[in-house]
Amino acid sequence: SVKADGGNNYQFFKASTQSSAINRLNMESEMRKAIERGEFVLHYQPQINATSGHVVGMEALIRWQHPERGMIPPYHFISVAEETGMIVPIGEWVMYEACRQNKAWHDAGLAELKVAVNLSARQFSDRKLLDKVRHALKQSGLNPAFLELEITESVIMKDIEATIALLEEIASMGLSLAIDDFGTGYSSLNYLKRFPIDKLKIDKSFIDDVISSEDDGKIVEAIIGLSHNLKLNVICEGVEDAEQFAWLQERQCNEIQGYYFSKPLPADEFEAFVRSRNAIF
Ligand code: C2E
Ligand code: MG
Ligand code: MG
Ligand code: MG
Repeated sequence: SVKADGGNNYQFFKASTQSSAINRLNMESEMRKAIERGEFVLHYQPQINATSGHVVGMEALIRWQHPERGMIPPYHFISVAEETGMIVPIGEWVMYEACRQNKAWHDAGLAELKVAVNLSARQFSDRKLLDKVRHALKQSGLNPAFLELEITESVIMKDIEATIALLEEIASMGLSLAIDDFGTGYSSLNYLKRFPIDKLKIDKSFIDDVISSEDDGKIVEAIIGLSHNLKLNVICEGVEDAEQFAWLQERQCNEIQGYYFSKPLPADEFEAFVRSRNAIF
């Protein structure tokens, strides 16, 4: 579900994702400096309850505000961060920052929303993951009920028994868990019910043609049905127009995330969006 958006200004990073160890080393040290200098920022994309139209949550999405290269989207650095292991300290910052911002919004009297944070494979296999989650919650003061972790199918299907144990610990801390990009990876439906997960996020690639492709429509209907039967929350990402929204609403999809409602927004714009949107209905 990650798309390149073209521009030449990202050549440096594109080149370095493919090539030499030297470039990778450069990228690694740039990323290290970026953490120290506070160049990473989080944008927040609203998640809308399909029935009420209210914002009920948001996904925190990282961007790199580079002093020379401008705003760099995650597509251009997350995979290198994953390969070099830099995703571990970057992800730790993301977790803390998302919790801190969400707590500040709660304290400011904004509707109490859940924030979802993406976890990469590398973070998931970090032995200190639980300590880091606990630390982020403690430092920020955020109630764990308002933090959701997003993991992909490939990450959780790697070592089923170890995953179940880890997810159970996370769930027992009061956090919620969502499976991201659902439908694009390999999930054993048999194991799905053994995972203490709360939510399936249907991947954008199924939503794109949900109206025009009968197959995609059937797949989305089946995943929504599966979610309801397993008592899981279901959200569709990448909803871009009113027709897709209406189609999903009719089929009782619980939540919607997509450009139709809003792109990911800087914190101040997100706050304004929630204030106006949740006041209308
Ligand atoms: P994701 O977690 O699946 O996030 C959804 C992506 O879809 C976001 O792209 C979002 O902007 C985009 N999107 C949402 N609705 C629409 C829509 O209606 N149309 C279109 N065209 N796009 C839509 P973004 O922010 O570029 O992030 C891309 C990916 O980068 C994320 O996919 C996630 O895998 C990764 N990522 C972003 N932030 C983090 C992070 O903090 N940590 C880790 N590990 N990965 C991250
Ligand atoms: Mg994705
Ligand atoms: Mg995600
Ligand atoms: Mg996704």
